[in-house]
Amino acid sequence: MRAVAGTDFGVHSPRWLSRFGDATRLAERYRVGRVLLAGDAAHIHPPTGGQGVNLGVQDAFNLGWKLAAQIRGWAPDTLLDTYHAERRPVAQDVLDNTRAQEELHSTEPGPQAVRRLLTELMDFDEVNRHLIEKITAIGVRYDFGEGPDLLGRRLRDIDVKQGRLYDLLHRGRGLLLDRTGHLSPGGFSDRVDHLADPTAALDAPGVLLRPDGHVAWIGDDQQDLDNHLCRWFGKPAD
Ligand SMILES: Cc1cc2nc3c(=O)[nH]c(=O)nc-3n(C[C@H](O)[C@H](O)[C@H](O)COP(=O)(O)OP(=O)(O)OC[C@H]3O[C@@H](n4cnc5c(N)ncnc54)[C@H](O)[C@@H]3O)c2cc1C
Repeated sequence: MRAVAGTDFGVHSPRWLSRFGDATRLAERYRVGRVLLAGDAAHIHPPTGGQGVNLGVQDAFNLGWKLAAQIRGWAPDTLLDTYHAERRPVAQDVLDNTRAQEELHSTEPGPQAVRRLLTELMDFDEVNRHLIEKITAIGVRYDFGEGPDLLGRRLRDIDVKQGRLYDLLHRGRGLLLDRTGHLSPGGFSDRVDHLADPTAALDAPGVLLRPDGHVAWIGDDQQDLDNHLCRWFGKPAD
């Protein structure tokens, strides 16, 4: 501390010391056959912003229901591969923002000027919100193809008539939120719960949630819903 800061700040007699560097690495593939990587095994980065645990837990949350589906025999062929496709870009983004933050720690005039500029920009609510959503991972949106902005995002924990949405997701099943009164999970009801008339707070006629709470479909057409049920939940029961 004396060498770096010119003072020891009065700190003495440590009980525990740890060290870390600026290592920034990302596995090329999250899945090779039956081997899957999650957490720090898949990505490491400096601890700036305290993002490592959340990133790893969200990997596990993304992967858990897919592994369960595979073991239970109903997973569509491509489901396990979506783990790499969805989670690697999220880690890439975290690595980018920790790298950028490391640059800002430098005492060189260039990074210091960028730091001052960023401080100015953070006076804008929209910039702040963007950075907060990035660092808390609330802004994560998986690429499920063309669609409304909500598609691919985790639905927020809204109040529903039956309680809180996230309590209903504890069962680890899919969930169809249906304000139309005519949608049905049909032959998927062993894997997908149906919540009719859930709440006016839901700004869509019908929403299909995966077990990890991400929005897999939005709409009001049963045929379109059936296609998406097959995409995420395999074949319907007889
Ligand atoms: C100094 C520092 C500060 C940090 N601060 C924060 C923070 O504030 N917030 C935050 O979110 N993250 C922080 N992180 C990052 C966070 O600690 C990691 O991202 C997180 O612990 C990774 O969890 P993990 O389960 O993937 O891996 P690990 O925690 O590394 O767990 C892997 C486990 O596997 C065990 N293991 C290894 N090989 C074998 C084997 N062959 N057989 C059996 N077991 C084995 C290891 O002993 C270890 O217990 C920090 C990291 C550091 C270094």
